[in-house]
Amino acid sequence: MHYTLKPALWRSLLTGAHLRPWRHVRDLSQLALDDLEQVGARGVVLDADNTLVFHGTQNLNPVIVPAFDAMRERFTCVLFSNRSPERHARLTRYAEELGLPIVEQTHKKPEASGFERAAELAGLPVEQLVMVGDRVLTDILGANRAGLRSVLVDPFDGEEPTALTWIRRVERARMGSTG
Ligand SMILES: [Mg+2]
Repeated sequence: MHYTLKPALWRSLLTGAHLRPWRHVRDLSQLALDDLEQVGARGVVLDADNTLVFHGTQNLNPVIVPAFDAMRERFTCVLFSNRSPERHARLTRYAEELGLPIVEQTHKKPEASGFERAAELAGLPVEQLVMVGDRVLTDILGANRAGLRSVLVDPFDGEEPTALTWIRRVERARMGSTG
């Protein structure tokens, strides 16, 4: 991560607090949209890497495209990635074509401000938003702390830095240890 974790975040990491997702699915295509509606969700905040695009690329995973299209018809969608816009230029253009708002780079997960900004962009209260992402310490922790429901997805098959794979193992071990 490119910033200092605040004490509250270290506490979550040590205690496991806020690390458990509301739902855990393989990818966006496995998420039941009826489930979201039943709990009163009206908007979805989407991570980019490993949620929409292959890690470190700008290529949408074709597996999730139909689910993403269906989701956009029923929910207000907002993009929230910690990666810089230059690294996501194609995704940013695509989002702009679709009219999807993007949380500005001044906000970084898991800080609460970005989730509050996502709610503002969606025009919905955080209780009506669901965050979907693959990282426990950014997507899930941040969403849970900010009052959104969180959905953890598994990383797409493909190359990712070894360090990230190790971090992911630690994250998921901590998640599994919570009560
Ligand atoms: Mg991601």
